[in-house]
Amino acid sequence: SNLDYSSYLKDWIRAVPDWPHEGVMFRDITPLLQNPKTFRMLIDIFVHRYMGEKIDVIAGLDARGFIIGSVLAYELNVGFVPIRKKGKLPYTTVEEEYELEYGNATVEMHTDAVKQGDRVILIDDLVATGGTMMAGYKLLKRLGADVVEASAIIELPELKGGELIRGSGLSLFTVCSFE
Ligand code: AMP
Repeated sequence: SNLDYSSYLKDWIRAVPDWPHEGVMFRDITPLLQNPKTFRMLIDIFVHRYMGEKIDVIAGLDARGFIIGSVLAYELNVGFVPIRKKGKLPYTTVEEEYELEYGNATVEMHTDAVKQGDRVILIDDLVATGGTMMAGYKLLKRLGADVVEASAIIELPELKGGELIRGSGLSLFTVCSFE
């Protein structure tokens, strides 16, 4: 089951203390991606969750959401759209600013990335405060998409991002969590 996979996969996520600055425990998914077996197990969890659903688009958040999101889109036979940090997308964009621990950040999406009524899965590697996921959700909604679920590998319950996202009425799926 996903639960068995979850505890196995957790061991492939490396904890790096005090990175990128003091007090942060960085959850590094590169070991999980580097091992072909755990990479496949991870992707399969998402594929099994969504393969029976009517999904039109996978929207991945910059940058680790691109890695899992694009493989998931390929497996589900649907399109992939990137939600990028400001200044990277060449065409007309919509943007959403949000608060970080220190300062602000802005994410952007092409105005033609989704169509009205498209059923979208929004994906990233990790939910901390939930600010990034919520910014992506707002962009998708502004373009008229129907966001079916937000999805991530890791949730940090202490930072209450899950509460923020679920409290807004958006369903959130995560493979594992670290207290
Ligand atoms: P947040 O917007 O606070 O939910 O932060 C989530 C975004 O920041 C994701 O794109 C993560 O990749 C990154 N992030 C935040 N905290 C961590 C952490 N402890 N370890 C790894 N990535 C993190």
